[in-house]
Amino acid sequence: MPGAMTQAGPAKLCRKCKDKEAVHNIRSDNFCSECFCQFVATKTVKRLEVLNRDKRNLHNGRPNGSKTFYSGLSFGASSSALIDILEQITLSRLSRGKDASFALHVIHIDTDLQDSSDTAAAPTQSIPGAEKRLDLWRARYPRFTFERVPLVQVLALNTIDWAALQPPPHDATASSEITERTEQAARPTTLQDLRNLLANLPSATSRRDILELLVRRLLIARATASWKADVQTTDKPSGKTIQKCDALLFGYSTTALAERTLVETAKGRGFSLPWQINDGPVDDGEGHSLPLYYPVRELFRNELVQYTNACQPPLTEGGLIVSAASTSSGTDQASAVVSHRELSIEEVLTRYFADVEVNYPSVVANVVRTTAKLERHGHDEDGAVDASKGEGRRSAGCRVCGMPLDEAGNERWRGEIGRLDGPEGRPRTGMDRLCYGCDRSIHG
Ligand SMILES: [Zn+2]
Ligand SMILES: [Zn+2]
Repeated sequence: MPGAMTQAGPAKLCRKCKDKEAVHNIRSDNFCSECFCQFVATKTVKRLEVLNRDKRNLHNGRPNGSKTFYSGLSFGASSSALIDILEQITLSRLSRGKDASFALHVIHIDTDLQDSSDTAAAPTQSIPGAEKRLDLWRARYPRFTFERVPLVQVLALNTIDWAALQPPPHDATASSEITERTEQAARPTTLQDLRNLLANLPSATSRRDILELLVRRLLIARATASWKADVQTTDKPSGKTIQKCDALLFGYSTTALAERTLVETAKGRGFSLPWQINDGPVDDGEGHSLPLYYPVRELFRNELVQYTNACQPPLTEGGLIVSAASTSSGTDQASAVVSHRELSIEEVLTRYFADVEVNYPSVVANVVRTTAKLERHGHDEDGAVDASKGEGRRSAGCRVCGMPLDEAGNERWRGEIGRLDGPEGRPRTGMDRLCYGCDRSIHG
């Protein structure tokens, strides 16, 4: 790891090929664009090898060894870079006379809640912005398939306790029997319901937290839905059949994983870190164990951002990527500084790590490496839920984020912060299925 970064001189040659001019200064070495892209691809290939070596991932693989990966795409730099890296890895294999090794199905969860095609006011035939953007991706990567999944589809998931996500009723006289609402009555079904649900959360941090959880759970659910025999999806533009998912890939950099580590610890989900940060199987809430991997986990965010400029043609051209300024809840740097209170914990830490990453990259990497050493305590290593250990295990996960619950630890978290009672001083009932982090996000 680099301690001090050296300056790239004006006419320095690439350290690797010693031929072209060096334009990237990466981890104390100077690289030309080509060698830099190769460095990024090699780091990713090594992580894919880990995925392929893990025997737990073999059961869904096709007999000929070719796998189908699903990947999340937010149109941000890191997840966008991952798609291009996977294309370059495929091209490199094909040029050496090998097979493609994997097929890729890319899923964009469309979080644009203004896209109100469910209301009479909006013409239903209007094409959402994200769909137009995906068309650009389809044109550039015809080998891969792309799918837009509107976030509102998350409401169809039975694995989320929608009643728990509703704000508590305001009349404090309600007894615990009355507040025990039936899932039917409290279940949100429309885009407007989803908008209300998010708007009712107590803070910007809560909204961001729950939104990210819903995106993650919808991606996982979309991937495991492909295993059901009656779900045979065809990619409409290409007519290709979308194969069952062997592993889900997320484009989280080292920096992003370090941020998650601190963010989730701050929110009281420290117990679930091994499931959130480490490669390996996660539970979809229905007892399916889905391999989830982070193939760019050994690259820093700024390296992936540089990659989007260095690859050919640059991903930053042609409207493929949504710039960071417009994704961060619509605020640019200057205006956000004015309204600190509307900043989520994530946004604060993203700013923090942007500095740390440049000056102390080893600190960032160490946060993730330390977390990687944590074991998945109290649960089967195949995921949060192990059916073979008796029916009691099915209730192990939090009914909002789906992460494993730390039965004793949750109480400790509450106790230390001095909140043993419910919002109106009532004892908490029906909250035992929520982790401390989700409880805080929903109830403040
Ligand atoms: Zn070079
Ligand atoms: Zn939770």
